[in-house]
Amino acid sequence: MGLIVQKFGGSSVADADRLRNVARIITETYRRGHQVVAVLSAQGDTTDDLIAKAEEINPHASKREMDMLLSTGEQVSCALCAMAIEAMGYSVVSLTGWQAGVQTNSTYGNARIKRVMTERILSELDKRTIVIVTGFQGLNQQGDVTTLGRGGSDTSAVALAASLHADLCQIYTDVDGVYTADPRLVPEARKLAEITFDEMLELATLGAQVLHNRSVEMAKRYNVNLEVLSSFSGNPGTKVKEVVKGMEQSHISGIAKDKNIARLALVGLEDEPGIAFKVFSLLAKEKINVDIILQSIGREDKKDISFTVTKSDMEAATKILEENQAYIGFDHIDVNPNVAKVSIVGAGMINNPGVAASMFEALYSSGINIHMISTSEIKVSVLVDLADADRAVKVTHDKFYGQINAGGSI
Ligand code: ADP
Ligand code: ASP
Ligand code: MG
Repeated sequence: MGLIVQKFGGSSVADADRLRNVARIITETYRRGHQVVAVLSAQGDTTDDLIAKAEEINPHASKREMDMLLSTGEQVSCALCAMAIEAMGYSVVSLTGWQAGVQTNSTYGNARIKRVMTERILSELDKRTIVIVTGFQGLNQQGDVTTLGRGGSDTSAVALAASLHADLCQIYTDVDGVYTADPRLVPEARKLAEITFDEMLELATLGAQVLHNRSVEMAKRYNVNLEVLSSFSGNPGTKVKEVVKGMEQSHISGIAKDKNIARLALVGLEDEPGIAFKVFSLLAKEKINVDIILQSIGREDKKDISFTVTKSDMEAATKILEENQAYIGFDHIDVNPNVAKVSIVGAGMINNPGVAASMFEALYSSGINIHMISTSEIKVSVLVDLADADRAVKVTHDKFYGQINAGGSI
């Protein structure tokens, strides 16, 4: 008997039948004697639809009003789920982020959870009531609603699990767990029985949307017992933990793809000290995160610097650099939004020097050109043309996992 936080994503609560299915999972857990806090996302494509509605009215709406609007999606699914559970005869209450005590900073659209005041939830649990909490939202110090960034309901769930010292945090989604690649793109991808926090954090940050990367960061920090599983199949899922069995055996645990990036190149910079500092401090001042950086060797006293940013920062980055062309000193900027990053992740690769070469070989054999490369102890990322991205994931997956044993769990 324990306290279990269960999170259900958009497709798991998309319509009345699926909400009833979620209500069944929650009440079965409750009937086994556990205390249950369920965190729900908005139904189906609701958040996208709300964004489209806002764009129709005002494409430059303030982030505060966007959060006011987007937070409504989660309220609908939670109230409906509570109604389904009421109809089954159980004691249940749905709470908004602020009723549940989720306090955040004021970065509208991408707020960070500062703390969760758990009194209300605990008093409901004490009464043996099932608690349903809206994901993705909280309240800032000014008393305004904030949202946590796309996919943020996972982070709401982990924050509640950490604050309530839950015994388990289950992330229910529309696939059976974490796979070696997106199973929708690579049908041969294999389900991982376990994955480390560090590898999962890399995969999530590098584009595997199955978990919000901040949820993994938080789960690692507070050592939350985390599991990803399907709300549809009832199959065992993937456990995300500090150390996994057989970690030494496989060199890579997964492949991720990120299409949400753009490449900027400053061409014809002076080949002298201080240039990189000028460029990247200007971007940092605008709070623009830079990812892969490549500097060419100087020729005839000139050099180039290329780097990637998220697509949403592309315009702002170009603008600030153009405004400072004379201060930095370059010939021109080349901007390319048609790129994608494909990455392999694995704690085992640090002691296996051939891993990066195998990836490059797979891409070369398929005629895929690599524009940039970046490596760390547990990942190798390459920048390729957007049009090549899906194929790059498939051929890389094939190289490491082959066609044999397709669909098996590892
Ligand atoms: P939810 O609405 O439940 O939060 P998401 O759409 O955010 O679900 O995340 C689940 C999706 O993540 C899957 O449908 C799958 O297409 C995608 N995905 C990407 N990479 C992976 C991976 N390595 N393992 C599992 N799913 C992945
Ligand atoms: N509804 C939000 C989104 O679509 C949050 C979430 O689903 O996690 O991004
Ligand atoms: Mg999600």
